[in-house]
Amino acid sequence: MRKEEITENLNRVHERIVTSCVSCARDPGEVTLLAVSKTRPAQDLRLAFEAGQRDFGENYLQEALEKQVALADLAIIWHFIGPLQSNKTRAVAEHFHWMHSVDRLKIAQRLSAQRPRDMPPLNLCLQVNIDGEASKSGVAPHEAGALAEAVAQLPNLRLRGLMAIPAPRQTAEERQQPFLALASLLAQLRERLPDQPLDTLSMGMSGDMEAAIPCGATVVRIGTDIFGRRE
Ligand SMILES: *Cc1c(COP(=O)(O)O)cnc(C)c1O
Repeated sequence: MRKEEITENLNRVHERIVTSCVSCARDPGEVTLLAVSKTRPAQDLRLAFEAGQRDFGENYLQEALEKQVALADLAIIWHFIGPLQSNKTRAVAEHFHWMHSVDRLKIAQRLSAQRPRDMPPLNLCLQVNIDGEASKSGVAPHEAGALAEAVAQLPNLRLRGLMAIPAPRQTAEERQQPFLALASLLAQLRERLPDQPLDTLSMGMSGDMEAAIPCGATVVRIGTDIFGRRE
């Protein structure tokens, strides 16, 4: 049964979060589990919601909007975590609570301008290309400070922190390197922008969550280990 499967998977992921937190003396309440539901049918999200899951991450705008219609009866917290073209910002501004993948000022400016006035500010993370990979989106680490400063000037947004998708690595120790780098970048931003609510490190996926948590992850983005392998 799909319902039991998803419920058990969620329980196992929660246990892993608790175990990781205990091993590094962190409070498990500081780590939010974001269920990454790209390519999954709306029914899978509904089953996860019934099992207590509230935060869902989507990568593809059109697919996400369709699920939002199908799941309009549920109090889901929607996170956009994929790449976004600037001509598609309006739907994110109007239909999401969080946006994790801002990597240039133009996107942030449009999100701010298009955020409806009767909604709370859009929570925003800057995506950092932490390993400097040519193929990946994200602001370069040395440019993150200037981007954060400019984004912090915009109304209708709350600059919450940083997100990264590191390159794969072999060992547990190597996997911590990029997460430590992202955490230290966030610490620098906090000094530079003391008035901003910079409390979020969105890092760690199914394969590297145990490396991200000791480095300070506050949001782990888990797809495969909740919903199974994607096609
Ligand atoms: C797909 C995706 C995830 C989840 O990856 P899994 O390995 O399936 O846990 C997390 N973050 C982003 C940005 C993704 O695109």
